[in-house]
Amino acid sequence: MDAARDDQDLRLKFNAGRFASICFGVFAICHAFQYEAEAVSVRSRNFIVHGPDQNVIHSVAQKAEDLRHKIAMAWLGKPLPAWPKPCPIQLKLTGGEAGGVTSFSFDQGRVTDQEMNLEGSAERILNSALPHEITHTVFAWHFGAPMPRWADEGACMLSEDHRELARQDEIINSLIDRKGHMPLSALFVMEEYPKDLLGFYGQGYSVSRFLIEIGGRDRFLKFVGDGTKIGWDTATRRHYNLPDSKELDRAWRSWHRVVASRRTPGQLHPESTLAAHKPQQSANSGETGKDRSVIRAQSDDSPVRR
Ligand SMILES: [Zn+2]
Repeated sequence: MDAARDDQDLRLKFNAGRFASICFGVFAICHAFQYEAEAVSVRSRNFIVHGPDQNVIHSVAQKAEDLRHKIAMAWLGKPLPAWPKPCPIQLKLTGGEAGGVTSFSFDQGRVTDQEMNLEGSAERILNSALPHEITHTVFAWHFGAPMPRWADEGACMLSEDHRELARQDEIINSLIDRKGHMPLSALFVMEEYPKDLLGFYGQGYSVSRFLIEIGGRDRFLKFVGDGTKIGWDTATRRHYNLPDSKELDRAWRSWHRVVASRRTPGQLHPESTLAAHKPQQSANSGETGKDRSVIRAQSDDSPVRR
């Protein structure tokens, strides 16, 4: 799969079509998900998990249900209704970093189909990819349409564990130091992906975190929903009481300089980072985010993926 993709049709496909998020470790970009011939399956209320290891699929099914409830409560203040059919989760266990793809079909403002693929070590799947992808499902069912990419990926990262947060904090610190960030007015309407994908995702994470820390999750969702409909300047005035996205940009950079950059990388914050899940330990959990280079990439595969 190609790390770059053509996303020119994204806005045009809001009401119908298929969307997916895709978040791969670098090592896995060229790997296609493959059905494991010896796979076993387990069914929970809202998921059916397929994978090669009985213990792992049970852990994933249990945690998927738990996260689905906790993340919906944190973001929406209420649980999601039971899904009409279980979301399939296909697991591919490797020794490495986690990656994930969740594909959605939307029709007339609602999700009509969804499926999830997860790859990596069991520990990274449970602590990183699964909470990230479950957050995509909560947003998809809330909006009934794809969120703007910067907000969707940025906010989903806030469900991941300390290690991933630390990596994102280091990415955004480096990005701002080298002045590689985009004006928010450009980030908000970004439909094609820049060469600096790491920076794009890192900025999405930071801006999402900033907005949630100053205004909470509910306001963030309303801002994002309105931004695509009434324009980002109007949405900024309505929800953050600033004249336009240029002033919001200035406020974000000030927050980063005065608040975020002085924190320990990976530091949790109750208003922004979800931490709805308890990270599960494994033999490699002592590794730091610096040990591996991971990219959050978009695929140019069809159907459009989110
Ligand atoms: Zn994602």
